[in-house]
Amino acid sequence: MPLSDWQTLGYRYYPPGLAFRQEFGCPVWKVSVDAGFSCPNRDGTSGTGGCVFCDNASFAPSRRLCSGVSIREQINFGTAQLKRRYPKAEKFIAYFQPATNTYAPIQKLEHLYRSALEHPDTAGLAIGTRPDTLPDDVLNLLAELAQTTWVQLEIGLQSVHKKSLDFLQRGHSYEAFLDAVRRFSILRSGCTAGSRLRLGVHLILGLPDESREDALTTAEELAKLPVDSIKLHHLYVVRNTKLAEHWKHGGIILPVLNEYASLAVDFLERTPPNVVIERLAGEADAEFLLAPDWTKSKHAVRNAVDAEFRRRNSWQGKCR
Ligand code: SF4
Repeated sequence: MPLSDWQTLGYRYYPPGLAFRQEFGCPVWKVSVDAGFSCPNRDGTSGTGGCVFCDNASFAPSRRLCSGVSIREQINFGTAQLKRRYPKAEKFIAYFQPATNTYAPIQKLEHLYRSALEHPDTAGLAIGTRPDTLPDDVLNLLAELAQTTWVQLEIGLQSVHKKSLDFLQRGHSYEAFLDAVRRFSILRSGCTAGSRLRLGVHLILGLPDESREDALTTAEELAKLPVDSIKLHHLYVVRNTKLAEHWKHGGIILPVLNEYASLAVDFLERTPPNVVIERLAGEADAEFLLAPDWTKSKHAVRNAVDAEFRRRNSWQGKCR
């Protein structure tokens, strides 16, 4: 098997920094934008009360202004922070992150997405959403925007297993995800050659009642689909969530770091080498986090995953 670019550079998996440099010719960062969307899993359309783990305030709060601030000002704020931290930063992707960022009339969505693209430092869009909130007019809009800029649709799936979707109270099925991906793929195959429409998927590993085999089934199912990038998360508990109540009463056991790293490597060994691994584990601000404590250190997670890959002398896609 020929080595992937990332393997020749010494990586064990395809990292986003490299993928962005290949795509844009320079380092690129995502800037979180809060457009004030709600969620069908909160307003009664798909469910009420939201997913058990969700407190939208805990999504990257230190990087965001409140949603009452214009998109342009939010991007100004986010890019200024990143430029201070990374002086060579030039290009940014406007990441519509908290809540369900396709849950609004199409005219409103188009206005918001185009507002982000008007910012001189914006090189593309990333749109986080649910699989059951992707009607054809939204997909068509994303495809149209992708004719002239980079557009990534990020769908939260979390698991292919009904028992886990029920536990998480996601309010959608795996079939809804498959339907959205099928329509996305048909649309993408009809786009012109220069189109830059990408598909990302969010997953949670180490869910209660999921065995290692269940997690591997999720990896193998995803590997059959035209997915460009994956964000892996572990199950972590933030305050003001149903999961927090469950955890406080001893209702769930959370994985320790080494167990999670082992499961993540199992998963990545079954992930195709061309899929970018945008995230190895979930992230939450210390202000909101209850457990597990290792969530606070991205560095520790990266080290644990790298160490496990080295211990196995393994890499992404090895078990395919
Ligand atoms: S995680 Fe996403 S889908 Fe679930 S309640 Fe929160 S915003 Fe809605």
